[in-house]
Amino acid sequence: MSSPPSSPRTSDVLVVGGGIIGLVTAWRAAQRGLATAVVDPEPGGGAAQVAAGMLAAVTELHYGEQTLLALNVASARRYPQFAAELTDLTGHELGYRRCGTLAVALDVDDRAHLRELHALQRRSGLESEWLAGRECRRLEPMLAPGVRGGLRVDGDHQIDPRRLAHALVAACERAGVVFHRVWADRLTVVRDRATGVVTADGAALEAEQVVLAAGSLSGRLAGVPDSVLPPVRPVKGQVLRLAMPRSHGPLLSRTVRAVVRGNPLYLVPRESGELVVGATSEELGWDTTVTAGGVYELLRDAHELVPGITELPLTETRAGLRPGSPDNAPLLGPTELPGLLLATGHYRNGVLLTPVTGDVMAHVLATGELPDEARPFTPRRFSAAALTEQPV
Ligand SMILES: Cc1cc2nc3c(=O)[nH]c(=O)nc-3n(C[C@H](O)[C@H](O)[C@H](O)COP(=O)(O)OP(=O)(O)OC[C@H]3O[C@@H](n4cnc5c(N)ncnc54)[C@H](O)[C@@H]3O)c2cc1C
Repeated sequence: MSSPPSSPRTSDVLVVGGGIIGLVTAWRAAQRGLATAVVDPEPGGGAAQVAAGMLAAVTELHYGEQTLLALNVASARRYPQFAAELTDLTGHELGYRRCGTLAVALDVDDRAHLRELHALQRRSGLESEWLAGRECRRLEPMLAPGVRGGLRVDGDHQIDPRRLAHALVAACERAGVVFHRVWADRLTVVRDRATGVVTADGAALEAEQVVLAAGSLSGRLAGVPDSVLPPVRPVKGQVLRLAMPRSHGPLLSRTVRAVVRGNPLYLVPRESGELVVGATSEELGWDTTVTAGGVYELLRDAHELVPGITELPLTETRAGLRPGSPDNAPLLGPTELPGLLLATGHYRNGVLLTPVTGDVMAHVLATGELPDEARPFTPRRFSAAALTEQPV
């Protein structure tokens, strides 16, 4: 369904894409008094319908991603207040659980890898505690007896991304954001300035500032000059959902992660009784097929970690697309095309980065200034000039 004929076709800010990143941008912009619209055939859809919702600033730390760490930590810190504000405003519970995470090792190689991660976390000023195998099983008795050790990270929590997306749509509606439920076909550029989009039903939507927040499709919008087209690609992830029986107490009380035969694996137990098991990581373009191989590998590895899961009903299998960027970090703020800003490339941390992205984007939309914490994530780092300036 497209937008009703009465809805205004001009705004201060037009956000292309109503996934969690576009929605939080629109909500925060509207709160600052900017007349804001979102164009998306299905706002609240996108990768959040698949994502596990780990808020994993510490356990997601990877070598070479220390710059991203600062933004991840800043966003994790904002979560309690962000979630409370969203729930107060909309009445929607978000499934925000301050349950912590246990990352475990199943063999000596995994243990060595986890020890290195622990050292990196400590050097980066993060809190995590090394536990022996039996201490891990004392915390989570359903873990396999072979667990060799693990890292207890009490600060990595979780949220239900579907509920988050739903609440953000409601918050936008309350803040007066206009929804155009249709695809944007192309960006309109007039005299070297982005001025809006033309939609699939031929309507012209105009705005002072256009934010491209189209997730893994951000690099595909027609009309965006090549020089500012975001280098974002889809990274497929398959995820399973199982149902934990309420009668026997929780199967797991916190998020459990491991690397099994080189494949990262996580089990995220929700208060609702849902257990999310994920995720594959596949570079296969825009394919979202759930494959027998993907499901088999996730179940096999999860069974090795928590043997009891094979008793649980399998309620859903689904695949989604992470918006990957060349350095695994988001692209936030103005491009070199006046009037066009980006909020995309959040890759595997988009749920975690939702609060900070909303704050950063609203600030830059209202003031024209990118806040200091977001400077390293300017889209301009991928411009031809910036890339040729980099040392070899
Ligand atoms: C399997 C999996 C597990 C994940 N687990 C986690 C996790 O545990 N923790 C975490 O922090 N993150 C996780 N993520 C990542 C997170 O889900 C994403 O980074 C985040 O959802 C991206 O949000 P987005 O709004 O940028 O993009 P999307 O969710 O892709 O939304 C983009 C929106 O843009 C719309 N759109 C696209 N093109 C157009 C157009 N031309 N016109 C109009 N609308 C358009 C689409 O309809 C869509 O609604 C996971 C992702 C996957 C796939």
